[in-house]
Amino acid sequence: MQLYNKYNKEELIRRLNEETFERTTISFYRYVLIENPQDFRDELYRQWFALNCFGRIYVAREGVNAQMSVPTTNLNSFLSQLDAWDELKDMPIKYAVEDDGKSFYKLSIKVRPKIVADGLDDGAYDVTNVGKHLSAAEFHAQLGDPNVLVVDMRNHYESEIGHFEGAICLQADTFREEIEMVVDELQSKKDRKVLLYCTGGVRCEKASAYLKHRGFQDVNQLHGGIIEYARQIKQLNLDSKFIGKNFVFDNRLGESISGDVISNCHQCGKPCDTHTNCANDLCHILFIQCPECAAKYDGCCGEECKTAHHAPESERNLYVQAFQRKFGNRKAFRKGVAQKIEKFDLRYE
Ligand SMILES: [Zn+2]
Ligand SMILES: [Zn+2]
Repeated sequence: MQLYNKYNKEELIRRLNEETFERTTISFYRYVLIENPQDFRDELYRQWFALNCFGRIYVAREGVNAQMSVPTTNLNSFLSQLDAWDELKDMPIKYAVEDDGKSFYKLSIKVRPKIVADGLDDGAYDVTNVGKHLSAAEFHAQLGDPNVLVVDMRNHYESEIGHFEGAICLQADTFREEIEMVVDELQSKKDRKVLLYCTGGVRCEKASAYLKHRGFQDVNQLHGGIIEYARQIKQLNLDSKFIGKNFVFDNRLGESISGDVISNCHQCGKPCDTHTNCANDLCHILFIQCPECAAKYDGCCGEECKTAHHAPESERNLYVQAFQRKFGNRKAFRKGVAQKIEKFDLRYE
């Protein structure tokens, strides 16, 4: 059996749109020792392919991090298979808030050095000494307390469209950057109570342990992240203190939590919280674009990209060169493009 997807994107999306059954979008992660990540990955692929699951999953020696869509009729089989693994038993599963079942169109399971690209040296601090887990209700009750520092551990493009009231949201492009910026920014406030949050909780596991290692006295984290918060406050009938949209790392790009739009179109400036990737695949940058600008620029981030996007195949090399000039030498150009894509492709939540 082939353990990799073999169809192109268009074909896969066409198939997804023709499906006549429902899918449920879920996510989960666990830090747990995986002795042989490649074998583990291959066996997961066999099982999940057979259940027609889609998603993006990272497997590492340190654990598993998964965002998936599972045919709703197969969900029970999926969960009992999960329970049959010692490493994945009793997994807390997070269910998507807004779910059209179109979150993923293929199954991708990758072996990586880490399940979250944190850039930290795990040998240098105690990764198991994590911050205290707060339930959604506990977290909710402490928001607004002037003695508490609420820190958004996500990247700038995520907090831009939605965040907790009064949260510290830094201008970081990656999680690595974010961690160091938080340590710098809060250097003089290490004795204060700190409340960390991220999309589903996985980033705060590492970040909270690292902050404690760096001398922070009272580190707490939102258990299950924004996804679980949104679900629980609905059940508890509380008003959301998370304002706007929760950025998610699948085709939906965001789940509306409070209904407010707190960000603006990067092109015309009017209120908008819809992320898109520039349609010019030499660029592919992630940005916020309103429907009018999407029509005006054909889904591109500017005139330059629109022109390149519409260039006939025969002139394509000219544009590759032009974008190379823009990004510097060929190597840097490749790296620039790769980084832009990677930023968005490291859907580490
Ligand atoms: Zn616009
Ligand atoms: Zn562009």
